[in-house]
Amino acid sequence: MSEGSHPTLYIILDNPDISYFYLEEENDISSPPTDQLTYSGLSIVDPIWETIDPNPNLQTLYNDFNERIFSGMLPEIEVKWSNRMTRATGACYPFFDEEGNCVQCRIYLSKPILELRPRRDTVETLLHEMIHAFQCFRKTKDEGDDHGPNFQNFVEILNDSLGTNITVSASLEVYVCVQQPS
Ligand SMILES: [Zn+2]
Repeated sequence: MSEGSHPTLYIILDNPDISYFYLEEENDISSPPTDQLTYSGLSIVDPIWETIDPNPNLQTLYNDFNERIFSGMLPEIEVKWSNRMTRATGACYPFFDEEGNCVQCRIYLSKPILELRPRRDTVETLLHEMIHAFQCFRKTKDEGDDHGPNFQNFVEILNDSLGTNITVSASLEVYVCVQQPS
């Protein structure tokens, strides 16, 4: 991986909020969150979420993950369900200015595919696309390969830290990561 990607990855590793994703002794699953999702004491892919919040609000998930996993370093991004996306679970569309700087991204997740799968798949797909967005804004994207070493390293760190199973491979066409220069 290139030297430039080290600082951002270490920021995530050093994020103290990451501890919120792990089971704690005082965890009380009998009091599920209501107004907002509270991850304190629960892994973000804990099976209990399938019952507590089976159909998560994507924008809420994005905001929470941005704050707790990405240290709030991502801007506001529109995250929507796509009813037409049937060959991929997620897509990240970046937009660039004249200088090639990433100025905005949009994330879409496939409703037809993900509504038939566990909530966990939605969470992991969203995180996959958020890594693309993060790398686009922070300019740590791999040259010529959206899922190159930098991306893989990022996935590994999140999976190790969060207990998730975010996938890297695009060979199964699970993910479409489209670049759309303006
Ligand atoms: Zn991807």
